[in-house]
Amino acid sequence: MAKTIEFSCDDGHPLDLKVARVMAGKGIKGIFYVPIVNLGDGREVLNPGEIRKLGRDFEIGCHGYSHKDLTRMSPKSAALDVKRGKEKLESILGRKVSSFCPPKGKYNRELLEIARELGFEEVRSARTFNVNPRGDSFLHHPNLHVFPHTLEKDIRDCLLNSDLQSAWVRLTLAGEGHLGLLKYLKRRLERVHIWFHAWELEKYGLWDFMEKL
Ligand SMILES: [Zn+2]
Repeated sequence: MAKTIEFSCDDGHPLDLKVARVMAGKGIKGIFYVPIVNLGDGREVLNPGEIRKLGRDFEIGCHGYSHKDLTRMSPKSAALDVKRGKEKLESILGRKVSSFCPPKGKYNRELLEIARELGFEEVRSARTFNVNPRGDSFLHHPNLHVFPHTLEKDIRDCLLNSDLQSAWVRLTLAGEGHLGLLKYLKRRLERVHIWFHAWELEKYGLWDFMEKL
């Protein structure tokens, strides 16, 4: 069984505070990727006091300033958005923010370069299913999105990442929901990284999964 389960929770929604309470109670470590405003989706975000509260027990990562798709901006505008998001978080928290997750996990070569130049130590993608152990590369791929994606969506995600092994495993697990996939990953890997959105847990009634961790 996996020795470590770690999570990341995107979007800085006020329900992140509920996630933090449950995860802290279970002793599970994670990162909250927090934008400063959410112009991309128009969702509510945590205020600075709430971000500080979250940051007492958990790592806080940058999720851009505005939560807009950075791959649709010019490299210059994208760099400015990420820089402003990082600096604002650092001034709220009073410490360095070293992890970055681009909104919707969308990245390109320029964006990875920007993240390096801004001094981030790691970038997290938004893969939905990935059976590989985490290496020490700058760009890391989580193992599971806690959302019951269709088999087709997961396979497409694996193939877009040229990951035939994960695609094959996912095929053998056809019919499994996200809890079945999580069970498999816990058996296979020493360290499993799951990711989700708190608003999504609420919207789709997925809070139960945390009891299974
Ligand atoms: Zn997001």
